[in-house]
Amino acid sequence: MSELGLKPLSPRAELHLHFQGAIRPATLLGLARRHGIALPVDDLPALREWFRFRDFAHFVEVYALLRACLVEPADYELVTYELGSELAGQGVRYAEVTFTPGPEVYRGPRETFFDGLSAGRERVRRELGVELRWIFDIPRRTVTLHPHMPLADFITDCAINGRYDGVVALGLAGTELGYPPEPFEPWFDRARAAGLHSVPHAGETAGPASIWGAVRALGAERLGHGVRAVEDPALLEYLVEKRIPLEVCPTSNIALGVYPSLAEHPLRRLVDAGAVGHREYGHAGDLRHPADCRSRTAAHRVWPQQCGRRAGPPECH
Ligand SMILES: [Zn+2]
Repeated sequence: MSELGLKPLSPRAELHLHFQGAIRPATLLGLARRHGIALPVDDLPALREWFRFRDFAHFVEVYALLRACLVEPADYELVTYELGSELAGQGVRYAEVTFTPGPEVYRGPRETFFDGLSAGRERVRRELGVELRWIFDIPRRTVTLHPHMPLADFITDCAINGRYDGVVALGLAGTELGYPPEPFEPWFDRARAAGLHSVPHAGETAGPASIWGAVRALGAERLGHGVRAVEDPALLEYLVEKRIPLEVCPTSNIALGVYPSLAEHPLRRLVDAGAVGHREYGHAGDLRHPADCRSRTAAHRVWPQQCGRRAGPPECH
């Protein structure tokens, strides 16, 4: 039982989850008031409504504000702990959480966020029994728009320096259209050489070319979303052959307007193509090193489930 009275349902893993996107509206309101940061709305019901993403551009706008409200190590610790509580309540025992160090983090000392993340992660492990790992990701558009700030260098350095403190991979996120993966190859080369995994987003708001770029230039071992691989049979076959799993998040795709409805989402076609697999895992030990697992097929969202023993039906989250 977690501190919030949430009862774990079953051992599960969560692999596509954004730290800043997981901030509770009430927590955001409290942080904004504490730090004197103006929000577009100033009460909880209106804030909840503002959190309903209208499209990808609105999502990016919300995300930037969420990041701005994280100022002190205690803020990062609080959000990490609340996130761990939510995960514990859902029966999650292992999670790889994407953290986006934006310009606001670059301007301050690394310890501001990393010490907070580490303190929260330790509390989550000790008090809630949930193991957290970090994917530090490069926001492709933000990096491009701030050429005076070597943000990609900073993020990659932070990821590499943090590899013994919970960082397992380098990611790439943000606006895909107009910001292809290929220019980010040098940073991924450096991270991979240091032993980190490559887990970029691709094939969400852009088509198969973006996925090919992520696979060929960045050495992607797992893909954030990747659903638009369905538009290129040769690519789909390649991903299955190379065992590069997809983290498919149908509700996110609908919320951001990638697909208009679940009925039009390609999950079924991805399953039929053999690109989506699902297995239940046998015990918590299976989840210790999911980044080292390889699957015969691309996984549906929670790919370490393929490291287990019993086959099960695909499920939607
Ligand atoms: Zn994502």
